[in-house]
Amino acid sequence: MFSEKIISWYLINKRDLPWRNTRNPYKIWLSEIILQQTRVSQGLPYYYNFLEKYPTLEALATAPIDEVLRLWQGLGYYSRGRNLHFTANQIVSEYQKKFPENFEGLKKLKGVGNYTAAAIASFAFGQKVPAIDGNALRFFSRFGGINEPIDDPNTIKSIFNFAYDLMEGADPALFNQSVMELGATICVPKNPKCDQCPVRPECLAFSHRLQDKLPFKSKKIKVKERKLDYKILVNEDRIWLKLREAGDIWAGLYDFFSRELVPKLPVAYSFQKKHILTHQRLSISFQIIILENDETPDGGKFYSIKEIEALPKPIVIDEAFKITMKFLDQLS
Ligand code: SF4
Repeated sequence: MFSEKIISWYLINKRDLPWRNTRNPYKIWLSEIILQQTRVSQGLPYYYNFLEKYPTLEALATAPIDEVLRLWQGLGYYSRGRNLHFTANQIVSEYQKKFPENFEGLKKLKGVGNYTAAAIASFAFGQKVPAIDGNALRFFSRFGGINEPIDDPNTIKSIFNFAYDLMEGADPALFNQSVMELGATICVPKNPKCDQCPVRPECLAFSHRLQDKLPFKSKKIKVKERKLDYKILVNEDRIWLKLREAGDIWAGLYDFFSRELVPKLPVAYSFQKKHILTHQRLSISFQIIILENDETPDGGKFYSIKEIEALPKPIVIDEAFKITMKFLDQLS
């Protein structure tokens, strides 16, 4: 039987990851949000740091948002960090500090989509609902020989139903974890390790030699080239920063002055950086400008070095801040 085969394989071959040894919905939710669009090796230290700083949902809910985003720094997709904080507050105030215990209820939480709701519902509450992440999608698309675009909601729905039927009689948490682990470690995007796969005899992609054709995707992500131009305004031992607003990349994080300075002021040092986001390729130029008067441009303010260290910043801004500090150290 399919589920027995993959679960036996999983119990022998699984990686020992901390969120797999718990049924605590807070820890499971935290791990799932951290791991969205993030590799396990990159997410693991963040998971430990968050649990150490916020061991409970209430501790996270009562923390200042800047502190949460600062801890999130480097993981990217900062809306996840903001949603984490928002949702912790939502559960405390609207759900009497308890996670909803089923798939439909969990989906009402901000930042919790079908996959995350299914993961929490099955891992924490044992509900029979397939958790279809990218690994599971790829695995099922190959195993079932599904030649439909996996970025189409209808295909995702039919893979969900396909998985639901295969789940019959199995422990939902173990089933979901087995599928995702197979996708992550055996049915990998390039050169899947079919010789180690427990369901190879039944796999349609394998029998038709379609492993490198499936899964099939219809759309390609369009990447936009974008130039950013920053002036790093230094006034004695403070640097000017502003909070980025919603509607663009890095909302809720701090960055430098990015308008034209009138009049133009002499540049003490300049450097360039490239940074790649999912939909944008950024070419960024930075100019350090030492101000000699106390004038503060609108839209932000001067912060001390200590304050800046504690503020949440995009990783490339943090790198530029460190370069600036090095430069200023050499000057003094
Ligand atoms: S046999 Fe190969 S392609 Fe099929 S599910 Fe297993 S690893 Fe993936």
